[in-house]
Amino acid sequence: MAGPVASARLRAWRPFLVLSVLWAAIGVLPVAAAAARVISQAGVHERAGDLVLAVLADREGLLELKSFVLDNPPRLVLDLPGAVLASDLPAVLPVEVAGIRQVRLGQFQSDPPIARIVLDLAGEGDPPAWEASPGDDPRETLIVLDTCPAPVLEPPTVEKGEQGVVLLRLAGAASLPREFGCLKEPPRIYLDFTGAALAASYTGSCEEKGIREIRMGQQSADPEHPVSRVVVELREAGAYTVFTDGDDVVLAIGENAWSLPLGDYLPSGRLKGRKVVVDPGHGGKDSGAPAFFRGGPQEPFEKDIVLDIGLRLAALLKAEGAEVTMTRDDDTYVSLSGRAEIANRLKADAFVSLHCNSCDKPDTLCGTSVYFDHQHSARFAALVQNELVAALGTVDKGVRNANFAVIRRARVPGVLVETAFINHKEDRARLLHPRFRERAARAITAGLIRFLGTKSAEGGAGT
Ligand code: ZN
Repeated sequence: MAGPVASARLRAWRPFLVLSVLWAAIGVLPVAAAAARVISQAGVHERAGDLVLAVLADREGLLELKSFVLDNPPRLVLDLPGAVLASDLPAVLPVEVAGIRQVRLGQFQSDPPIARIVLDLAGEGDPPAWEASPGDDPRETLIVLDTCPAPVLEPPTVEKGEQGVVLLRLAGAASLPREFGCLKEPPRIYLDFTGAALAASYTGSCEEKGIREIRMGQQSADPEHPVSRVVVELREAGAYTVFTDGDDVVLAIGENAWSLPLGDYLPSGRLKGRKVVVDPGHGGKDSGAPAFFRGGPQEPFEKDIVLDIGLRLAALLKAEGAEVTMTRDDDTYVSLSGRAEIANRLKADAFVSLHCNSCDKPDTLCGTSVYFDHQHSARFAALVQNELVAALGTVDKGVRNANFAVIRRARVPGVLVETAFINHKEDRARLLHPRFRERAARAITAGLIRFLGTKSAEGGAGT
């Protein structure tokens, strides 16, 4: 006879329910008026393949959570009504599990307070299911995310692409956190996938010209964070690009790889707290290196091209968490001393001046070079040059020590980038292509991350 008892209980509760609804309607429900709960700590760890977000509040009890999904880029949002984030909490929590790129924290709204946790997802698939439970400390809420099991990496398949580009496809790898770069002696490209298991170590030759060998091995044997490395050894250093295609990661190798579509840029706060000054050369009355061919100067001028690269670079650096100052963000003239002075005054961590090269005789010289003046900028210049020639497929004119006024006057680490020759037909065609300018900006960003960032993929002879 449980029914009547239960309904009697329900009847007894009804006046309270009615009152609660009334309170809610006029906004004086006691719960809503309660003081905000302050979140003083937030961290992530892995537990049996799941990602656990541990959130510590100032008082006991589970935090209220509401979730929804947003697209472009795909992300799972967890809102915590009535919660305030302590000001010293990090804005980004790096994670290394399949399917989730990073976790971001922010105060979405202050009155009434709503704290927000955003999980940037690696792919378009279903977002992970989640469940909240109390931690050992009664003030702690554990949000357990059911992350997908990491895929097993198989050796890449090799395809011929357009314009002599060779495509190496790693099936199912798009959801994995990854880093890539190029190493010298012998020239090789590596891709590190975190959280991936290898089907087996692998060494194989490749029929395609330019590629000597493909190897796969376990870079880190840490069972919590296995890192699998794919190495493609080249016959000589060359251009490459990495992008995602559906569920796959594709490494494209070849001089024209730069003209292939770019994948989404995936920032992860790698320049947080760094100050960078971006200096698009010339501007206003000073249009920069002459773009003379037959029949006089041709637009766009150097000042236009480097402004576009500069705006792209500034956006990427900001996405990585850097504080960015541009010496100019429109078509105005700034003096050489004024440019360096901005960097000196800000005590910037890095200064990047952007230019296009030219020579007296059109269609003779071509290629990319990075200049430095002070010795403390030599490594910075080398890192940026290395990324640029790999991403752009231009002729490697090397790193040069020259006392250009703008970098001589900068007392902070500074480089002057000559992206390509504006009066060389092939280089100019590249400079006019937005994908080339975006790649240049990404390559400089990668160089800056290697120079200033905390996470470095350098070294690691690995496989
Ligand atoms: Zn210039």
